Amino acid sequence: MGACTKRGLTSLLAAILLLVSCLPAAAQDAYAEARRRMVREIAEMAAQTGAETGRPRLDARVMAAMGEVPRHRFVPPREIGLAYANRPLPIGHGQTISQPYIVALMTDLLRLKPGDRVLEIGTGSGYQAAVLAHLGAHTFSIEIIPALAAQGRKNLAEAGYGQVRLRTGDGYYGWPEAAPFDAIIVTAAASHVPPPLVQQLKPGGRMVIPVGTAFLTQHLLLVEKQPDGSVNTRQILPVRFVPLTGGH
Ligand code: SAH
Repeated sequence: MGACTKRGLTSLLAAILLLVSCLPAAAQDAYAEARRRMVREIAEMAAQTGAETGRPRLDARVMAAMGEVPRHRFVPPREIGLAYANRPLPIGHGQTISQPYIVALMTDLLRLKPGDRVLEIGTGSGYQAAVLAHLGAHTFSIEIIPALAAQGRKNLAEAGYGQVRLRTGDGYYGWPEAAPFDAIIVTAAASHVPPPLVQQLKPGGRMVIPVGTAFLTQHLLLVEKQPDGSVNTRQILPVRFVPLTGGH
């Protein structure tokens, strides 16, 4: 009887120990279910828009990255409850972190391979850059608003993406010293495709960029540089982005 109680006590203790050792992991992954729900919503939206975008199913690696990158670390504290909602959110200075579906679609269109060099224009919160880095791309990102550049740098470092190379300045001119790039992603709407960015794209490279009128009609474009250096442009989807600013 005594031995039995002792055994019972031992297993109770073991159970408590197991529970305690599991707690930090459970607390850390408090957002895992929200992320899974977000990924399901992205998949549904991709299916709904598939006829237009030509991408009814996004790349499995991109979807896995969306399910793993901690988006809640990139939104301002007062927006944290909406971090995994499929919608854009304010990040201060009149700017927004893009809707998760748009982040996933733009990333998918870049067709990144691990080790590719990718340039982002518009670091903002750093979230899109984190998704690119998560896919194993050598990621470079330029932000024009110094306070956002600092916030993006902090978010990226704290979320474990300190390897992303960042620069403050006008991304219209690209990053010539780091060029050429396999892919370029512009996360603010331009009135035209910036020629310096086309120039900094490798032959065979891809650029995704919203082009149109500030806050009005904009289209997401996929610009592909052919091996002979000529450029093919395809309209993907009507979108709404904050404008690309700067003196260019
Ligand atoms: N990719 C960001 C989205 C930020 S919104 C994210 O994941 O959070 C677009 C960003 O582009 C804003 O931060 C804005 O300040 C920046 N931007 C606008 N014009 C720019 C320019 N000419 N060069 C670099 N960044 C620019």
